[in-house]
Amino acid sequence: MKNTNGIELMKDGKRLDGRKPDELRKITMKTGVLKRASGSAYVEWGKNKVVAGVYGPRQLHPKFMQNPTRAMVRCIYNLAPFSVDDRKKPGPDRRSMEISKVSTEALENVILAEKFPNATIDIFVEVLQADAGTRCVGLTAASLALADAGIPMKDMVAACAAGKVQGQIVLDLMKEEDNFGESDLPVAVIPRRKEVVLLQMDGKLSREEFSKALNLAVEGAMQVYEIQKKAILEGAGGRI
Ligand code: UDP
Repeated sequence: MKNTNGIELMKDGKRLDGRKPDELRKITMKTGVLKRASGSAYVEWGKNKVVAGVYGPRQLHPKFMQNPTRAMVRCIYNLAPFSVDDRKKPGPDRRSMEISKVSTEALENVILAEKFPNATIDIFVEVLQADAGTRCVGLTAASLALADAGIPMKDMVAACAAGKVQGQIVLDLMKEEDNFGESDLPVAVIPRRKEVVLLQMDGKLSREEFSKALNLAVEGAMQVYEIQKKAILEGAGGRI
């Protein structure tokens, strides 16, 4: 069955890349990839390639922005000009500012910022290659980099999207599904409590579909969390 754009995204219950509806793309993670950062991580997730670097906690300048009760947390998301098919104009735009804002807010839920008065914790997420779901990959890489930096946190943040493609609820949309599917629902959670810290939606879903997609995305994020934990252990040489 083709969708309204004339593109067949599902055939015999399988997706364009052969995945089942509830299957994640292949994910690999590595910590400690940047020499000058306090902590860093590199995540390959399907065709997405994302690096995250954490700087700090360090004293916040200018001084008038300092908060004597807690550190400022800033997550900056950037899509490299060469990361997408049509070259992206360098520098921030509305989309990257939005993703930076929601990512910062998600991470503020876990970072124990009160331990670092007058400081700033800066997290840079650089998307080197994009293939849909980059805000989820970026957040996953960012929290891994924070753990690598030894920043005290309540837990990690793990993220994953679900959505609707040719009438079916599916996990972890790739580019073609994101472009030509009916809906995309990126979700980030604090895994230990299954508490949602980011929830956005593109397109339309019925109430039932929304609830099914949300549950699927949370379960996807729980699988991502397991891979994060392995990467932290490997980064520490299994010493944790
Ligand atoms: N994209 C692009 N050019 C842009 C922004 C996005 O080609 O300027 C692509 C990129 O592959 C991205 C996808 O569109 O991953 C979906 O973007 P969206 O805004 O839905 O965010 P994401 O799914 O990456 O979190």
